[in-house]
Amino acid sequence: MKNQFNVGIIGATGMVGQRFATLLSEHPWFNVVLLAASPRSKGKTYCEALGSRWSMTSPLPEKLAGMVLYDATADLAEIAAQVDFVFCAVDMSKDEIKKMETAYAQAECPVISNNSAHRSTPDVPMIVPELNPGHAEIIPAQRARLGTKRGFVAVKSNCSLQSYVPALFPLHDEFGVKDVLVCTYQAISGAGKTFDTWPEMLDNVIPFIGGEEEKSEQEPLKIWGTVRDGAIIPASEPHFTAQCIRVPVSDGHLAAVFARFKKKPIKEQILEKWCTFSAIPQEAQLPSAPKQFLHYFEEDNMPQTGLQRDLEGGMAVSIGRLREDTQYDCKFVCLSHNTLRGAAGGAVLMAELLAYKGYLD
Ligand code: NAP
Repeated sequence: MKNQFNVGIIGATGMVGQRFATLLSEHPWFNVVLLAASPRSKGKTYCEALGSRWSMTSPLPEKLAGMVLYDATADLAEIAAQVDFVFCAVDMSKDEIKKMETAYAQAECPVISNNSAHRSTPDVPMIVPELNPGHAEIIPAQRARLGTKRGFVAVKSNCSLQSYVPALFPLHDEFGVKDVLVCTYQAISGAGKTFDTWPEMLDNVIPFIGGEEEKSEQEPLKIWGTVRDGAIIPASEPHFTAQCIRVPVSDGHLAAVFARFKKKPIKEQILEKWCTFSAIPQEAQLPSAPKQFLHYFEEDNMPQTGLQRDLEGGMAVSIGRLREDTQYDCKFVCLSHNTLRGAAGGAVLMAELLAYKGYLD
């Protein structure tokens, strides 16, 4: 594998784009050479285009502040010619995003995407690096369909499921996860907002997030899917049902989970699976990988959004309150950082995995 790549951030001014800027400014493999957003931002420096929108707790990276922004669509050919691949997180219609991401891939510029537009495209891998790294094997089939040598699109899953799918995944082989009921309590940054831009969320809970419940129920099945005949065939189990609720926290999606198994495990067996779980990102020591992906907390009042969301740079999943349930076999609570593990950090780790496997050479 190469170990130095020139990269661009498409949607650099957005909430996820700002996370990319922060994470990539000191990255050992990925060097940000270009930023792009909408036609509104074109020609402005990053600092000017952001205005008062910078919402990260760390300062705007100096190296990026003076970069002049490109228009992601109008300047596509110029962008693709200057980078090895792009990270993409934009607020556009699904059709526009599909068209734009495919056009980048066809310009031989791989796209590592946070957008949902291509998540159901059968030959587009949706990778959580610790869970389904093997889905990268679909990339040659996608390249054949697109007629490209290098270009492809790979996507990250929705942020809501980044806590409960990792917690359930290590249990599936031995115990067969059958039915899952999940309620998520999701941060306002998941909607690209802060308390300044969404004051209605102060002292409030909104019991609806458009499209979120469908994604939370369906996307896990693609992650559990099988690569066959040029497509990822979604699994038919586990069965998921979800309610997704917006709560007044800045960052961090918490989930309350109830699970039923084909072969009911005891608490110690579940804890053993969680505590010993390790995968390629840990074994290969990828730069953004947490040392331990799943952390279990014994205290009854953990995990807490404000206390654990930044665990291991916001890339680990925190779990607690595992106990028997009267209707299901067990219940527990889990938490992940929605714009780190759930968005930009997860995408950077996926890019590290794809680079490690040689797909970005
Ligand atoms: P956001 O804060 O609203 O940012 C949107 C970005 O899209 C801005 O950079 C904006 O640029 C750019 N944009 C808008 N119209 C464009 C156009 N026509 N061409 C090029 N760029 C355009 O949104 P966000 O929260 O970062 O989310 C971005 C994407 O990531 C969405 O698809 C979202 O579903 C997904 N996502 C978000 C999260 C999360 O936790 N926030 C998690 C997972 C996935 P201007 O500044 O120039 O308008």
